[in-house]
Order: sequence, then C-alpha cells, then structure tokens
Amino acid sequence: MNPVYLDNNATTKVAAEVFEAMKPFFCERYGNPSSMHSFGGNVARDVAAARAALAALLGASSPQEVVFTSGGTESDSTAILSALATSPERREIVTSRVEHPAVLNLCRYLARDKGYTVRWLSVDREGRLDMEEVQSKISDHTAIVSVMWANNETGVIFPIQQIGEIAHERGALMHTDAVQAVGKIPLDLKASAIDFISLSGHKLHGPKGIGALYVKRGTRFSPFVLGGHQESNRRGGTENVPGIVGLGTAARLAAKNLDEENDRVRRLRDKLEQGVMAGIPFAHLNGHKEARLPNTLNVGFEFVEGEAILMRLDEKGICASSGSACTSGSLEPSHVLRAMGVPFTSVHGSIRFSLSRYTTAEEIDYVLTELPGIIHFLRSVSPFGRENLEAICRVH
Ligand code: PLP
Repeated sequence: MNPVYLDNNATTKVAAEVFEAMKPFFCERYGNPSSMHSFGGNVARDVAAARAALAALLGASSPQEVVFTSGGTESDSTAILSALATSPERREIVTSRVEHPAVLNLCRYLARDKGYTVRWLSVDREGRLDMEEVQSKISDHTAIVSVMWANNETGVIFPIQQIGEIAHERGALMHTDAVQAVGKIPLDLKASAIDFISLSGHKLHGPKGIGALYVKRGTRFSPFVLGGHQESNRRGGTENVPGIVGLGTAARLAAKNLDEENDRVRRLRDKLEQGVMAGIPFAHLNGHKEARLPNTLNVGFEFVEGEAILMRLDEKGICASSGSACTSGSLEPSHVLRAMGVPFTSVHGSIRFSLSRYTTAEEIDYVLTELPGIIHFLRSVSPFGRENLEAICRVH
C-alpha cells in the first residue's frame, strides 16, 4: 500500500515527467557540458534550457541570475558567505530565530568562531516578525539580512520584499531561503529588493541533491565552492546534469500548475484543518491562519506526545512530521515553536501535515477518520493525558 504522504515540506515525490526527462542523461547523453565535442556540448543546451525554466518560475530578469548548486543548504551558505566576503567592513548579520538549521547553524558558527555579530529577529505567537524590530536591527554595520520566505514548520510567510527594502536603505544585501516557497506561491523577482534566493529541487517534485541560488544581476559575488569555471565561475564542479534537467522540468511543471494547484491544495488543507479542529478537542493551530503556505498545517495537540502520534499514524500508513527533533536521547521541542512561545502543554504534541499536488481528497478523509481516535487513545493511556481527560470530556 502506498503511504498517505503528508510530509511534503520534508521532501516530495519526483514527478513522473521529471524522472522521464532525467533518464537519458545517465547512460545515453552523459557528456560533460564543458567538453569541446558536440556529444558533451549538446548537453550544455539542456542545462541552459533548465536554467531558463527556473528563471521563468522565479520571474528573474535573466537566466544568468541562476547558479546551480547541490541544494538549499549550499545555496544558503553561498549567499551568506559571499555577502560577508564582499563587504568585509560590515561585521553583522540579521536573521530570524525560526530559520532552517542551514542558516541558523551557519550564523551560530559565524558568531561563535568567526567573531561576527548576529542580530536575531524574534517572532510573535503566530510566527510573524515585528517590522519595528526588523527596522531597528538592520544598520550600517549589516552585511546581509537573511530571512526565509516561508517557514518549513508552520508555513508562515514573511514580508520579504519589505525587509529587502529596509536592508537596501542601509546598504545591506538581502538573502531569502525560499526553499519552501518556490513552486508553492508565485514569485516575481524582476523589480524586487532581493539579492539572493536559495531553492532546492526535492521540495518541488524534483530530485534530491540539486538546487540553485538566484543572484540578482549586478550583485557583488564571491564563490563558495572554488574549482573549475562552471556556472560562469560562480560554482566549481562538473554540473549535475540529470539533476539540473530534473530541476528545470520540475520548475516548468510548477509554473504551469501553480494557481490551479494551489487552489486545490489549499482547499484540501483547509478541509483537514477544519476536520481536525471540529473533531479533536484541545487542538490549536501553530502559525498564522492567513499568511501561510497553502499546503501546510501545523497543529498542537495538548496533553499528548508528538512522537507517539507519529508512530500511531505510521501504523495506519500516514506520514507526517513532528515539531520536535529527538536530540541525544532527550526530546527537544522545535526551535520554531519555542520561538513562537507555544505553551509547554502543546509544544510537545505538535504535528506538521504538508500536502502536495498529489494529495487526494480520499487521503484527507482517511486521516480525518483515523486521527481523532489516535489522539483520544493516546490521551487516555498517557498519565499526563489522563489527568486532563476529565476536563477534555467535560468540554466536549
Ligand atoms: N531551507 C529550508 C527552509 C528547508 O526546508 C530545507 C530542507 O528541509 C533546507 C533549507 C535545506 O535544503 P536541502 O535539503 O536542499 O539542502
């Protein structure tokens, strides 16, 4: 049986069209795009077509603004380290407390080991930034502002254009980790105040191990991966041609279906949300109801452990993810939910459901049939839950 896969913010299924498009580049058209002979040289055209498709999805001014990388993590490092290298007189980075570890841990390292000052932006109970704080933390000392376009755990969308304008007023560069936004919401970078965008193939039905960094034309740039002349001297290493072709095809599919799919996915997500809220007491939405990706639902279930919910869901063939990461044997609640001030009673019982273009109404119905019983059962057997069960029953 195929799983009911509601963990698309972790990774997505490779679209059949993407897989088909990639196949010839393994055993038939395996030439190196930098070769002088036509067997390799012809492949360079496919790389160029993929670059153009991605540029079109981003609403970039030119395909030359797209640099292929190994994924979101490399793109994030490239953007931030490039800004620091090209603005040596500026020693500050502004970023949010809810970034993905790809940005978070790089910034922590730069503060701890390299002497940079990191100014952290906080979020409110709904996961949103305080624009006054943004304004006050960006200064003439800021080299780069790095704020994600949309949060991977809650789906909350940040006002990136507005933040970019503030960054530019102070002479700082603007980077956004748009790994979760690209392919899910429309982007138009032509007239934007954004210098760098990170994206990743495996979040938009492309393959793993391929991504891109958008670098706005004219932005000063210093490469992270040094080596050959590939990517116009901006990223050394022989191109991952099958991955690039796959990402280009994924971009084309995303652009074609964006509005229609978003509408459908949003309706399914809302159906799931309404069903959960109506059928399960003491369940709370984590994140802002409106300013949110159409595919993401993060719910905190009070008086129950997220890991136990996930295990029971897994037994029923349902894949979701918990807000907690299990670190060295202790259950650490998610840094995102903690930054939002989600109360202790539900931070440990938070579950993220993330849908995709392949999610069906039947799958959502199935989850709504199984989930209430799972939560009720876990609350009834957990000592922590049992204490509160009486109150739960009184309310419902
Ligand atoms: N940034 C965000 C917001 C993500 O969700 C992820 C993946 O989970 C990454 C960066 C890392 O991307 P990759 O897996 O391509 O390195």
